[in-house]
Amino acid sequence: PPIDEVIAAIAVDIPDFPEPGVVFRDLTPVFADAGAFRRVVEAIAGSVLEDPRVGALGAGPGDRGFDVVAGVEARGFLLASAVALAAGTGVVPVRKAGKLPRARVSADYALEYGTATLELHTDSVAPGQRVLLVDDVLATGGTLEAAAGLVEQVGGIVTAISVVVELPALGGRERLRPHTVHTLWTT
Ligand code: IMP
Repeated sequence: PPIDEVIAAIAVDIPDFPEPGVVFRDLTPVFADAGAFRRVVEAIAGSVLEDPRVGALGAGPGDRGFDVVAGVEARGFLLASAVALAAGTGVVPVRKAGKLPRARVSADYALEYGTATLELHTDSVAPGQRVLLVDDVLATGGTLEAAAGLVEQVGGIVTAISVVVELPALGGRERLRPHTVHTLWTT
């Protein structure tokens, strides 16, 4: 079956989590399923190659279009390290505030209630390096917008943003423009 059907069949919808009126898509069963996890990881590792813009970005034979994978804490880590291994690149963590020990850049972003902060080690992405940015769910796009800004602040190029699930009603894709967004399941 197509990958969106595989994900849809295994993901679990949790009504009223984390608060009343919100339906939370729980992808942990997808990650726990060996076959589904492999398909998700391989699809993300190959996602940039399916991007018609990749030619313009300079990808040649054997070049997947990115040099390093960055994952957003915490579920993005589960994906990013597996994608990096599949693609033969390294992996870089975009962390919540207060976790990174060395020189870092920070970005505050709005949550529904209050704000949150993401951080990236300044030297974790080299200037001009092409970064595939990965997280599990794209909702409003605030989290990935902040993460992409950090990559760019240290001189990296966000070659694409890949997520497993996109909730299009929340407008995240528009918010992330002009970045290319790859999604495996839109719901
Ligand atoms: P955004 O910043 O509104 O796009 O929210 C995205 C962040 O919140 C990501 O890091 C997701 O992991 C998390 N998130 C938002 N909605 C869901 C959901 O329905 N299931 C799982 N994670 C979610």
